Amino acid sequence: MEFVRLNNGIKMPILGYGVFQIADQEECERCVLDAIEVGYRLIDTAQAYGNEEAVGKAVKKCGVKREELFITTKVWIANAGYEKAKSSIEESLKKLQLDYLDLVLIHQPFNDYYGTYHAMEDLYKEGKIKSIGVSNFYPDRLIDITKFNEVVPAVNQVETHVFNQQIKPQEIMKKYGVQIQAWAPFAEGKNSFFTNETLKEVGDRYNKSVAQVALRYLIQRDVSVLPKTVSKDRMIQNIDVFDFELTKEEMAVIEGLDKAESLFFSHYDPQTVEYLTGLVR
Ligand code: NAP
Repeated sequence: MEFVRLNNGIKMPILGYGVFQIADQEECERCVLDAIEVGYRLIDTAQAYGNEEAVGKAVKKCGVKREELFITTKVWIANAGYEKAKSSIEESLKKLQLDYLDLVLIHQPFNDYYGTYHAMEDLYKEGKIKSIGVSNFYPDRLIDITKFNEVVPAVNQVETHVFNQQIKPQEIMKKYGVQIQAWAPFAEGKNSFFTNETLKEVGDRYNKSVAQVALRYLIQRDVSVLPKTVSKDRMIQNIDVFDFELTKEEMAVIEGLDKAESLFFSHYDPQTVEYLTGLVR
């Protein structure tokens, strides 16, 4: 496993396992146990995923020392604001059966996220959270939160894959010392991701799959990645990306796939904002 060094000196695995859309508790527990068994050390969950308990059970059972694991959760929009966010993080700790979290992110840049961030800063100072950050913060909001708070976010988790590479936003994150982390590194299979000819051609040279080339490309661009799969075989495949290196030419060809546009939704789109903020009720 390779690591990235966050702006507060903490080491974070560059590749982790995400549990979005694994709602069934037993399946989620099994998945996290499998992931840890095959070598994943970073587990990415969220209050909104409804599976923090399952992640907690797997972490408890897995037999790997707590300090070797890196557990992330995210504060949901409904829990925004200082007091609510603080108690929701305490609740997450309980559900996860943990004394501390390695990383807590603001899930979405809506509602009173300044209040949320202040609560996270206080828990960070108390040592209950080792690093704090944000998710889905486009450059404007990222600069804003960075400028007017004491602690600079360590991570910004945003949609990042070969079709939406976040080249410019990554430059801005770098300028402010924020580590980019990719959600949906396979674009959830959209746009015929897993049969993409360019990725396949490159992969054939190394005997690697489209998924492996896609992850390798992001890793070589210093992007932390969170592939999700419920299949143990695919977990093994998705973590097996550290024994080959793409050439400059191959990197350039893959960069050419970038459309610099979301395949899901834009956080600037009023309908998206109405949808996401509507989930609070
Ligand atoms: P993803 O990782 O891009 O794609 C997951 C899909 O790819 C699943 O359908 C999976 O199917 C399939 N897959 C995985 N490995 C494969 C392989 N080697 N070959 C073929 N198919 C493969 O999508 P995601 O789950 O949306 O994103 C990953 C993680 O990012 C999430 O789990 C979550 O932790 C995080 N995330 C965060 C946000 C946010 O707002 N912060 C939003 C979305 C996601 P199977 O499971 O059937 O194998």
